[in-house]
Amino acid sequence: MPLAIEPIAAFETNYIWALHDGSQCVLVDPGSAAEPLDFLTRKGLKLCALLLTHHHFDHIGGADEILRNHPVPVWGPKDPRIPQVTEQVSEGDRAVVPELALDLQVLETPGHTITHIVFHDDDILLAGDTLFSIGCGRLFEGTPEQMQRSLDKLSDLPGHMKIYCAHEYTLDNCRFALQVEPDNPALKTRAEQAAGLRQEDKITLPSTLGEERAANPFLRTRETAVVEAANRREPGTGEKPEAVFGVIRRWKDAS
Ligand code: ZN
Ligand code: FE
Repeated sequence: MPLAIEPIAAFETNYIWALHDGSQCVLVDPGSAAEPLDFLTRKGLKLCALLLTHHHFDHIGGADEILRNHPVPVWGPKDPRIPQVTEQVSEGDRAVVPELALDLQVLETPGHTITHIVFHDDDILLAGDTLFSIGCGRLFEGTPEQMQRSLDKLSDLPGHMKIYCAHEYTLDNCRFALQVEPDNPALKTRAEQAAGLRQEDKITLPSTLGEERAANPFLRTRETAVVEAANRREPGTGEKPEAVFGVIRRWKDAS
């Protein structure tokens, strides 16, 4: 069977992504253990690796217990706060999982945290808390300059690429984004779609990078409408993307 990518819901808003072929499985950012362990049992899958994007508890909190049951390689950034990592990777490295013929490129995306990484191949991006659907991660450790650069890196990937982020935030993000760009038709469409899906308790992911470039204000800091909105919010911001990004991020944090 071809690669399936399924969400395992955890906590209030987290998705632990399971990549599997019906027999072998990789888990991404297991913040808790019970749900993914149950998933493996229920589907009769053998765990072959963990992928970790950053050190936050809601992304690694289940790793120890999972590894006690399934000792597998753990791919992640070099960070003493993630002692579970056995395969440290940084910008330009590849995470290879032969059991699933996965060959993922690693990008460093500092901003949400300083050592945050993402994994991608030609078709999928495992974005952690860097890029959300119609949003991006809060700046807990990095600067607006760093996050703008990280998002620029992701924005350069092909438009068909599917984005698997770690939280169900789309609807809230759309509500905020519509304050920034009330007249963006692509955004209005996404907001309607997300509202419909959430009403039925359905997942809004994955999106595609093309859809994000069209509607996600954090990938649109060079667009006139977004620059103008930032300058209305904080007069004198100017046009530098990192400055516009900083204003939009502060605005979202306060909303
Ligand atoms: Zn996080
Ligand atoms: Fe998170």
